[in-house]
Amino acid sequence: MKLLEGKNALITGASKGIGRAIALKYAEQGANVAFTYLSSVEKGEALVKELEAFGVKAKGFRSDASDFSAAEELINGVVSEFGSLNILVNNAGITQDTLLMRMSEEQWDKVINVNLKSCFNTVKAATRTLMKQKAGSIINISSVVGVRGNAGQANYSASKAGIIGFTKSVALELGSRGIRSNAVAPGFIETEMTEVLDEKTVQGWRDSIPMKRGGKPEEVADCCVFLGSDQSTYISGQVINVCGAMLT
Ligand code: NAP
Repeated sequence: MKLLEGKNALITGASKGIGRAIALKYAEQGANVAFTYLSSVEKGEALVKELEAFGVKAKGFRSDASDFSAAEELINGVVSEFGSLNILVNNAGITQDTLLMRMSEEQWDKVINVNLKSCFNTVKAATRTLMKQKAGSIINISSVVGVRGNAGQANYSASKAGIIGFTKSVALELGSRGIRSNAVAPGFIETEMTEVLDEKTVQGWRDSIPMKRGGKPEEVADCCVFLGSDQSTYISGQVINVCGAMLT
């Protein structure tokens, strides 16, 4: 049985890493997949064919997650192309790490806007559609550092903590309309985002993880399949950590 057969999903930031893994797992499970990218144009365009190979409909949109009016255009585009929207995964995210003492206002604003405001942008734009359908699953990608903080990531941790508060509020506001809202908090996942870290930092992370390894994007994607599917119809307002027991 395919867990997402016939569902229409939108995943932001799917040109690489976790978003790409979610898009591929969703297509494998029978979902039609709309996705966004911003700077990785070639990778974004190439993904369409990979998704279509699973026999589903796929479309990529070049859209800046931090842009409020672009989100409205995006949601309208997805709904007119696919007919409905059943699963919204807010995955697009960036880091601009530095100690608070050195952090510029620009670095603060950029990370908050791409990681946190982006969730407001798409959810706000999709609410009318989801309410009319009286169903939908919203999945926001947070992080374990949104729960526990991290030195050198005040902007990023704040954005990811904000996502958790936002996710829970949406669950409370829209639950009576059959709309679920959950957050996934990955730990240390091996993607381009973590590739930039030096080997000592990476080893430090691995040593501190009870499972003694970083996670794979596909392991986060499996959790998103579950939350998007009808296997999780009574789960809302929750944060699921995918972190090899980094947080317990
Ligand atoms: P990644 O490999 O750097 O991929 C980030 C994705 O977000 C790319 O597809 C990128 O698209 C897209 N993106 C960035 N800025 C965007 C914007 N303004 N508008 C639209 N798309 C944008 O990162 P990742 O590791 O897969 O991370 C994915 C999510 O998981 C992020 O929210 C991240 O914070 C979260 N997370 C990651 C880890 C980890 O250890 N990797 C841990 C916890 C949480 P373009 O390249 O096309 O711009």
